[in-house]
Amino acid sequence: MLNPEDLGKLARALDMTREDEIGCDECFEQLDRFVETELADLDAAVAMPLVQDHLEKCGDCREEYEALLRALRAEQGSTSVSLIWARLRRLFGAD
Ligand SMILES: [Zn+2]
Repeated sequence: MLNPEDLGKLARALDMTREDEIGCDECFEQLDRFVETELADLDAAVAMPLVQDHLEKCGDCREEYEALLRALRAEQGSTSVSLIWARLRRLFGAD
């Protein structure tokens, strides 16, 4: 069973890297907006593909993303446990 870490390595191994990919610094800079986009029920992966791309490859940034997502959800006061689990399952590719 592949975990996201392995998938990231696999993606690299398959040479899916692009010239316009971003690094951790840029990812962190855009992470707020990415999470807010997601919380607004918009498709953040489509709106900000480079961040999505980096999150798929970088475990550190993904952890940061998940922590931020949880924090903002809690802040919104609209946290639905089932929704979080659904998203986490999607993030970890359990589907
Ligand atoms: Zn990173």
